Amino acid sequence: MAGVTVSNLVKTYPSGSRRATDDVSLEVADGEFLVLVGPSGCGKTTLLRMVAGLEVPDSGTVTIGGRDVTRLPARERGLSMVFQSYAIFPHLRVRDNIGFGLRMRKIDKATITERVERAADLLDLTDYLDRYPAQLSGGQRQRVAVARAIAVDADVLLMDEPLSNLDALLRMQFRAELKKIVARLGTTTLYVTHDQAEAMSLGDRVAVLRDGKIIQAGAPMEVYDEPSDRFVGGFLGAPPMNFFDAVVQDGRLVVGDVSLEAPERLASWPDKKVTVGIRAENVAVDRPGLSGEVEVAEPTGAAVLLTVRWAGGELKIQAGAGFRAAAGDRVDFHFPGTGLRFFDPETGLAL
Ligand code: ATP
Repeated sequence: MAGVTVSNLVKTYPSGSRRATDDVSLEVADGEFLVLVGPSGCGKTTLLRMVAGLEVPDSGTVTIGGRDVTRLPARERGLSMVFQSYAIFPHLRVRDNIGFGLRMRKIDKATITERVERAADLLDLTDYLDRYPAQLSGGQRQRVAVARAIAVDADVLLMDEPLSNLDALLRMQFRAELKKIVARLGTTTLYVTHDQAEAMSLGDRVAVLRDGKIIQAGAPMEVYDEPSDRFVGGFLGAPPMNFFDAVVQDGRLVVGDVSLEAPERLASWPDKKVTVGIRAENVAVDRPGLSGEVEVAEPTGAAVLLTVRWAGGELKIQAGAGFRAAAGDRVDFHFPGTGLRFFDPETGLAL
């Protein structure tokens, strides 16, 4: 096993107008599961491909297990990969697909059989070893691709949207299985997704990218709870964090024609404009104080998601499943101080 370090990686594609990765540095510890997440085009895949050796950086370095691999071809880096287009070979049985990487490495037959069977067992494919891909469901084919990557016993596992071809339910089921499997193997893993829920659920740490830069990296709940800027707060979470503008006056936060108590640390910034953030689940509907009109009430089963219009604009509130409200109703709510986050309106950075 091995940790991965990328230092100051810069990559501009010949036809690209801006840097696909812009001075990215990141350390992934030995055995860690790190998820790269961000909106389309933020540079996740480019970063992963530079670690893989499929793309050459303009500058910067990649080390794996302390060894500088920046100029080494992919096959000499000791890694295995699963990509979105999980090219499994239609003319090979599942067992030969899983063993493909091992045969390429000229490993002896008995070891190949043993490793293929172990990987198949981990991915629940034992009963399908003699089938051809065409005789499998999409989810099973995806498992074959993952089994093939795992069978190699590489130091580092790279995965780029490996679940994207699955429907929502399978995706969620497989996500939990993948987490279990990778934890059991203890392989250092870099995983790319644009799906924030997947990132949060899988990663020991998540690194949120935007415009070729890592904006914040940390444990999922840390990044979710304490976003370093407004972008991260808005990107993670469904619904995204609520934001509204306020001005600090006389120790209170003034929002349109209402005011609420400001935390002590803000009181020393008279007339400061701030962007306030609060997550839907942190808005309390059990205590009055503020009020708004329900525009939409969406039961999700486990909760009711309210869209409320109030002095600060539109607000998403996650109320308990038993909460009854319909469009047009007035609802009283309250922002517990612990749930409030503050950002600079100009820079978006957390205050
Ligand atoms: P997605 O989630 O859509 O796959 P991503 O975050 O993985 O996006 P990249 O594929 O790394 O993003 O792309 C980063 C930037 O580099 C984008 O602006 C993209 O248009 C550009 N880019 C990627 N590959 C190439 C290429 N082969 N040639 C030119 N530009 C490219």
